[in-house]
Amino acid sequence: MTAYDFDLFVIGAGSGGVRASRMSASFGARVAVAEAHRAGGTCVIRGCVPKKLMVYAAHFHEDFEDARGFGWTVPEAEFSWNALMVAKDREVARLEGIYEKLLANAGVTLMHGRAQLVDPHTVEVDGVRHTAAHILIATGGWPVRPDIPGAGLGITSNEAFELKELPERVLMIGGGYIAVEFAGIFKGLGAEVTLSYRGDEILRGFDDDVRRHLRGELEAKGIRMLLGHEVTAIEKQGTGLRALAADGSAVECDAVMFATGRTPNTANLGLEAAGVKLDAKGAVAVDGYSRSSVDHIYAVGDVTNRVQLTPVAIREGSAVANTLFNQRPTRVDHHNVPSAVFSQPPVGTVGDTEKQAIAKYGSVEVYQSSFRAMKHTLSGRTEKTYMKLLVEPATQKVVGAHMVGVDAPEIIQGIGIAVVAGLTKQQFDDTVGIHPTAAEEFVTLRDKVLRGRSVTG
Ligand code: NDP
Repeated sequence: MTAYDFDLFVIGAGSGGVRASRMSASFGARVAVAEAHRAGGTCVIRGCVPKKLMVYAAHFHEDFEDARGFGWTVPEAEFSWNALMVAKDREVARLEGIYEKLLANAGVTLMHGRAQLVDPHTVEVDGVRHTAAHILIATGGWPVRPDIPGAGLGITSNEAFELKELPERVLMIGGGYIAVEFAGIFKGLGAEVTLSYRGDEILRGFDDDVRRHLRGELEAKGIRMLLGHEVTAIEKQGTGLRALAADGSAVECDAVMFATGRTPNTANLGLEAAGVKLDAKGAVAVDGYSRSSVDHIYAVGDVTNRVQLTPVAIREGSAVANTLFNQRPTRVDHHNVPSAVFSQPPVGTVGDTEKQAIAKYGSVEVYQSSFRAMKHTLSGRTEKTYMKLLVEPATQKVVGAHMVGVDAPEIIQGIGIAVVAGLTKQQFDDTVGIHPTAAEEFVTLRDKVLRGRSVTG
C-alpha cells in the first residue's frame, strides 16, 4: 500500500465521504478527501440542516396564533427574511468549520478543489496528482430541472437557501420530499403558495392514507394544490413569472421552484478513464459493499442513487471503512429505513406501506387513528394527527408504522426500533403508554381492519 501517496482518496466531503474518511483514518489508513464546494456537503450546506432551521422559522407563524388560545396576547408579529438568512448562514458556517476540524483531528488531509480521476489509481486536484490504493466516490447529487422552455427562470432548493428576499407568490413544482417541505416553509413565512404536481397524489411511494391526509392538511393551511397538473413552459411577466400548463391554464407568481428530483454527480469525474460503470440513471453502479465495477473504487451516498438520505450515506461510508481497513467486510441493509418529511405537519414513516404489505403478505391488518391533538383543543386549530400500524396477519409482526402530525419524525424514530426488531402487535400493546401524549396511540390502537387481495369488502 505504501507505494501510493494515500491508502484512501475520497472525492466529496459530504456526510458519506467524511464518515468514511474519519473512520478509515481511525483504523490507521492514510486518507485524503477533496471537496469542490464546502465541507459538509448537501445535508449541512444546502439540505437537511438549513432546511430544518427554516421549517422552525416557518412554524412560528402558527405558534403565535395558537398561543392566543392559551391566554397569550401576541402583538402583530413581524418576520425578517434577511435576519433568518444571516442566522442560518452563521450556523451552516459553524458546522462547516466543525466538519473541517473533525477531519483535521482525525489526521485526514482535506484538499479544497475539484477532483478528477486520471487513471484507476490517480486523482488530480487543481492540477496536482495524487495516487491512492483505494478511491471512494462520494460526490452526492444535484437538483434537476425539467427540460421545458424557461426552466432557467426557476430556482431549485440550492437557490432557495440563498434568496435575497421572500417571494410573495411561489409556484412549487413537484410532489416529493423537497416540494412539500419548501411549500410549507414558504407558506409559513408568509408567501402565497401553489404546488403543481403531475401525478394524482403527492408523495408517491408513501402510504396512500398518509399521502391523502397530508394533502388535506396542506390544503387546509391554504396551500393551493394542483394535481394532475403539468407545467410546460415558464415565461417572464412584468416583474414576475407566468407558468403555462398543459391544460392551457397559467399560474402567475414571483418565483418558480423546481423540486423535481436530484441526479447523481458523476459527470466530469473521469470515471470513464478509470473504467467505473454507471447505471441507467447515471449513478455509480455498486454491489452490497458499495464496491464499483473497479475492485478498489467504491461509492457511497446519493451518487449511488440507492436511498438518498444522509444517515444511509453515513452508514455506507462507515461500512466501506470497516470493509477496507478494519478486516470487517460490511454490507448496509437498505430495508426498513425510517424517514421523515419535514412538511407542516410532518410525516414519519418506517417499514411497509399498506400496498407493499399486501403485495408481500397477501393481506394486512390495518390499525389507524385520526384525532385532534390535545394542544388544539385550546388553540382551536382543526389540524388532525394521523397514525397507522400495519401488521402481518400470520406472524402478528408490525411491518409498517406511519404518522402525519406534530413530532411524527421524533416519534417514528423510536417506533422504528420496534419495527426493525420485528416486534409484534401484542408487544406494542404490552407497552404502557405515556399520558398525555400523541405517541401513546401507537400502543393503544385497537380497531383492526383486514385489507388485501384475499379480502373482500
Ligand atoms: P423526489 O424524488 O422525492 O420527488 C421528485 C418529484 O418531482 C416527484 O413528485 C416527481 O414526480 C416530480 N418530478 C420529477 N421529474 C419531473 C418532471 N420532469 N416534471 C414534473 N415533475 C417531476 O425528489 P426531491 O427533489 O423532492 O428530493 C430528492 C431526494 O432527496 C428525496 O427523494 C429524498 O430521498 C431526499 N430528501 C430527503 C429529505 C428528508 O429526509 N426529509 C428532504 C429532502 C430530500 P413523480 O412522483 O411523478 O415521479
